Amino acid sequence: MKNTLLWFQRDLRVHDNPALNWALQQDKPIVAIYIHSPQENAPWAEGAASRWWLHQSLKKLSADLLQLNIKLHFFNADSVEKIPRLVTEANIDGVVWTNRNEPQRRACEASIARLLLAKGITLKRIQDGLLTTPEQFLTASKNTPYRVFTPFYRKLRAQLDLADFYANQNNLPEKSLPAAPTLAASLSLEQLQLLDQHHWHNKLHAHCTPGEDAALDKLDRFIDTALSDYCTQRDVPAVDGSSGLSAHLHFGEISPQQIVAALLPLIEMQGGKTGAAAEAFLRQLIWREFARYILWHFPETSTQPMNRKFTRAFWQTDNALLKKWQQGKTGVGMIDAGMKQLWETGSMHNRVRMLAASLLTKNMGIAWQHGAQWFWDTLVDADLANNSMGWQWVAGCGVDAAPYYRIFNPLTQAQKFDPQNIYIERWLAPASIQKTAPPVIDIALSRQQALERYRQFVRDSDQS
Ligand code: FAD
Repeated sequence: MKNTLLWFQRDLRVHDNPALNWALQQDKPIVAIYIHSPQENAPWAEGAASRWWLHQSLKKLSADLLQLNIKLHFFNADSVEKIPRLVTEANIDGVVWTNRNEPQRRACEASIARLLLAKGITLKRIQDGLLTTPEQFLTASKNTPYRVFTPFYRKLRAQLDLADFYANQNNLPEKSLPAAPTLAASLSLEQLQLLDQHHWHNKLHAHCTPGEDAALDKLDRFIDTALSDYCTQRDVPAVDGSSGLSAHLHFGEISPQQIVAALLPLIEMQGGKTGAAAEAFLRQLIWREFARYILWHFPETSTQPMNRKFTRAFWQTDNALLKKWQQGKTGVGMIDAGMKQLWETGSMHNRVRMLAASLLTKNMGIAWQHGAQWFWDTLVDADLANNSMGWQWVAGCGVDAAPYYRIFNPLTQAQKFDPQNIYIERWLAPASIQKTAPPVIDIALSRQQALERYRQFVRDSDQS
């Protein structure tokens, strides 16, 4: 009997998973695989914190799939080479996966598709994790990609209709599937070696619970307890005022469709404070969509500024300052607390991410790519689209970015968003808060210098 090959990528869930649903509909044994291929993902192979999350998530998915009598096989290989080979070895006549949108993954997927089609294999590639089809979602006036968020948001928001969404679509069979062959050369999850040998990641267990069940629970809990105050509390770093769903979304443990399906009824039926908060939350989800959309249309923006005027020459090199920033030793409370939170938990509050990025790129004048790389390695929710857009937005060189001359003051921001020092004291030892040494950078002076550098840059660009 022929088998179906189901390739998991960033869709690590069993519910509302269109690739799994398609595979189930083929009525054949399912050979499920996950391929770890850091060399194919270069320069964006998963960072250390992401790999920890991935390990836990795959463990969970593997257990969930076993309930359906599907064994998840692991490989450490180039997917372009491995998948066509598996098709022959495992007697496969149909292959399904959900697409990834990072540039390097798109290139690999296109190569695999060509090889499979040449072998006469039935191939199903499905868009997942997106609310739009980027190549078809274009401006009405010029038929070109959107570069500004607000019109993108308005068009997409107007199209979101409850009737198109279904919560937790579940085509899972009630009885067990026929067993598929076990692939001899597959590895154990541990053999993928996603976990760092130094076990620094053990501390992450106290802060994160990867996996689909945790994602669905988190969404429910957020809606029940925090959503109605989202508009005011999401900016307060000391409070759990946002959903905490970013890593779950990144790994596809929950789909944006599932979230929209939960939000639209609140907006349409409940209205009032909760409805407005649900709308504000939906807007953030559409920022995520916009980031994916921009990366899809402008793949070079993971390493290059969207505004090409901001070449490397604009930025300064100061490795000692960069190290202070990375280690949370700047002497600026809010920034050091954020870096400590990142180091301890693999996450950082959104407002503090903005402040840390602003200090690095504007006060310190260091290129955003250095900060993006550090976040990439340390965030459990490291996401090429969101990270590139977030950094470029703050640095002033991205799509629809905050202008360069708008520079956050981390001291006044701390007074506004952490007036009682709760967040700072949570992450920093009392001695380091009370120390009298001045910050490694003078906030007011470095702001003036940044503005002057920018003025000079504009003058030079106008002349060239
Ligand atoms: P919520 O407020 O609950 O928002 C719900 C979801 O909307 C989030 O889970 C996320 O998927 C999306 N979202 C929220 N804010 C943004 C935003 N500004 N841009 C795009 N999508 C958003 N987010 C990542 O997922 N991965 C990253 O690597 C990342 N790097 C960032 C780097 C910088 C410099 C900045 C300023 C922001 C970055 N963000 C990144 C965006 C944002 O900080 C996180 O998505 C957010 O902190 C996650 O918390 P939450 O899930 O509680 O968000």
